[in-house]
Amino acid sequence: MEKTIKLGISTCLLGENVRYDGGHKLDRFLTETLGKFVEYVPVCPEVECGLTVPRESMHLEGDPDAPRLITSHTKRDMTERMVQWAQKRVIELEKEELCGFIFKNNSPSSGMERIRVYNEKGMPVKRGVGIFAKIIMGHFPLLPVEDEGRLYDPKLRENFIERIFTLKRWRECLALGKNRGNLVDFHTKHKLLILSHFPKHYQLMGNLVAKAKEMALEDLFRQYQTLLMEALSLKATPKKNVNVLLHMLGYFKEQLSADEKKELIEIIEGYRQEYIPLIVPISLISHYVRKYNQPYLQQQVYLNPHPIELQLRNHV
Ligand code: SF4
Repeated sequence: MEKTIKLGISTCLLGENVRYDGGHKLDRFLTETLGKFVEYVPVCPEVECGLTVPRESMHLEGDPDAPRLITSHTKRDMTERMVQWAQKRVIELEKEELCGFIFKNNSPSSGMERIRVYNEKGMPVKRGVGIFAKIIMGHFPLLPVEDEGRLYDPKLRENFIERIFTLKRWRECLALGKNRGNLVDFHTKHKLLILSHFPKHYQLMGNLVAKAKEMALEDLFRQYQTLLMEALSLKATPKKNVNVLLHMLGYFKEQLSADEKKELIEIIEGYRQEYIPLIVPISLISHYVRKYNQPYLQQQVYLNPHPIELQLRNHV
């Protein structure tokens, strides 16, 4: 039942020579590291809507909320061409069951935020969204999206990758069949992960699962998926992680000696003060989970939400 993680990606990030100047923007983290765990679905809006390589560069102009895509020198308006192609492309992409999309930043077609939009005096404001990126985000409102520039921030990178792996597990749960037992099982395993992102949604989702028997299945699964994606879109902070770590410590009240508890609390405090990375308290707790065979914590995705090779919890 294991599903592949499919990610949409701006084609130039894979090293393809599709940019206006005939070049590319190869990103080695995306191709060589994350690429081992995902399958990319490349999309270059400018080439796929029929423009050549090389081509005249373009930019956004006009109203930042509804800008036009204009060629920089000849001032041709490419907006309709791009929009018409993009509206068909998003329908095709539905079949791919994407778990996320990684956009090239600063692009008037592919950029997801803070794209320059020029006014009639030629002055830019960084408030636009690329024409294709806007159509993707509008069509798939719960899809995890990031741009490659933001993925250099370790916290944003961790958050994005946590979301795509969670969406993959959610799709696997759906593939098993929409029944209440599968939902309860998924929720039980993800409780601490959800708590580390959004304590309020943790409550809401717990309430939703508790009244699962009273709800129609379609409605139940739809509401749960929305809450899940909303919850994970909020970053897990040291404060929220400390709350989860202390919660897990509570499961070992009987087994740990006073000295072992003190050591674990000191490590959690070191993490809270951002002296040591999250992987350190997580590793020690995982050791106790194995040693004492703690059944509830054993199944918690929080302890192992993505491959350790990605080193997402190694930053402070
Ligand atoms: S930024 Fe987007 S439109 Fe530009 S080359 Fe890359 S994929 Fe193509």
